[in-house]
Amino acid sequence: MKIKCFSTHKFEQKYLTHWADELDLKVEYIETSLNKDTVELAQGFDCISCWASDTLDKNVLTKLKNFGVKLISLRSAGYSHIDLAHAQKIGLMVTRVPSYSPEAIAEHTVGLLLCLNRKYMKAFQRVKDFNFTLDGLEGLTLFGKTVGVIGTGKIGSAFARIMKGFGCKILLYDIHKDNELEKELKASYVNELKDLLSQSDIVSLHCPLNESTRYVINSKTIDFLKPTAFLLNTGRGALIDTSALVAKLKKNELRGVGLDVYEHEEDVFFYDHSEKGISDESLLRLMSFTNVLVTSHQGFFTKEALENIARISLENILHYKTRTEIPKENLLTTQ
Ligand code: NAD
Repeated sequence: MKIKCFSTHKFEQKYLTHWADELDLKVEYIETSLNKDTVELAQGFDCISCWASDTLDKNVLTKLKNFGVKLISLRSAGYSHIDLAHAQKIGLMVTRVPSYSPEAIAEHTVGLLLCLNRKYMKAFQRVKDFNFTLDGLEGLTLFGKTVGVIGTGKIGSAFARIMKGFGCKILLYDIHKDNELEKELKASYVNELKDLLSQSDIVSLHCPLNESTRYVINSKTIDFLKPTAFLLNTGRGALIDTSALVAKLKKNELRGVGLDVYEHEEDVFFYDHSEKGISDESLLRLMSFTNVLVTSHQGFFTKEALENIARISLENILHYKTRTEIPKENLLTTQ
């Protein structure tokens, strides 16, 4: 079975190589990302492995099918970058890694919150300059504050548990209620999103990006947020309408915003632009606010998660190769 791994990052190479050896799979690695301009590179391969920044639209999928590709193994949990309906229609099997370390993303979300609230970046710079004053570093005690979690699946529930440990009151919003979680955290689900937005001191987005969640934070819903609220997004960039967020920040109506994801992150995140800078006006504007902290989609980025992503994505390929059963939750489409 010929396997090509697109968008291979240096940081995942050792984990992929290790697990490919363990599972006795021969893999060709390239750094090039997969899109309409590079899809020809998949010719002659039975299986391709893809990263969340690869573009798997109708056109690319049809070409892959015509080249003889049978399996697409995603090295991600999210699948908003692939046209699944089309993959299913043309009989391309797609697998994913549904859970590799939800706690890693939840912990990063808490990290963003703490950095924003206690102004650690500013404090670090100050102390480096031997300036040991405290003015301007004041934060809030998180104990007793209300945290609203939108999307209470694996990551949202891990985040809610950590914030419960801080002594926060937890509000939940999801289209599928998890009554066990509600009981465990003595939390409560709200029926209306606006109730969560208007009552929370901290709002964190953990739902997947799909047609019902795109711009869940938009020019209308953003106005339900308290002007003292923190808004955190480690889900997907397009859960927030960036222009609405910028307008809100310009009015100084949010305490802080932590973003690990950004609406147009594809050509920016994961690359080094330190020589030439970036030209994305919205991102530049966002980064110009002193109460906005942006990280480059690194929520997942722990040793444990990288290990699991490599192992599970390659095990999915091995299952296909040996005709053994692929775990149901890993399977997005069948042939
Ligand atoms: P999950 O499937 O376990 O949970 C998602 C939850 O969102 C589910 O409970 C679902 O019912 C809920 N949901 C779906 N539509 C909704 C809606 N319209 N309103 C409210 N809730 C809705 O997924 P997960 O593993 O917790 O991951 C959540 C998201 O986190 C992923 O889809 C991905 O976009 C993102 N993610 C980010 C990183 C990162 O590094 N920043 C890494 C992995 C995943």
